[in-house]
Amino acid sequence: MELPSEGRVIVSACLAGVACTHEAEAKTRDWAVKLVAEGRAVLVCPEVAGGLPIPRPAAEIVDGSGVDVLAGSARVISETGEDVTENYLAGARKAAEAARGVGARLAILKARSPSCGCGEIHSGKFDGESDTS
Ligand code: SF4
Repeated sequence: MELPSEGRVIVSACLAGVACTHEAEAKTRDWAVKLVAEGRAVLVCPEVAGGLPIPRPAAEIVDGSGVDVLAGSARVISETGEDVTENYLAGARKAAEAARGVGARLAILKARSPSCGCGEIHSGKFDGESDTS
């Protein structure tokens, strides 16, 4: 991956080695660790920032996309049936505030996550499949 040569970058915390996934794992990538070492990475974990614990049940967007969740027409539901939409909205707001606070022009976020994912997310059926969003 080619990274910009300067500026702060918003990075999903799990990609930088923080064990914050729903299974309390990290998804470490060398480029993210390098950004941290250079002092350029601003780590965000919207799910934890929104008040969810580590570990936590997996959750998926049901009947819509992230845009639909923001518009109030889709919900985020955990595999145990809990509606965690408000946690996800709170986490998204905090991640956006962090980006604005440091003037970040770029965010590199983990694919397929219901909170960090962009373009492709899990289907909402907990079947391991993805939908485009
Ligand atoms: S919310 Fe984002 S940073 Fe947090 S564990 Fe999921 S993908 Fe990683």
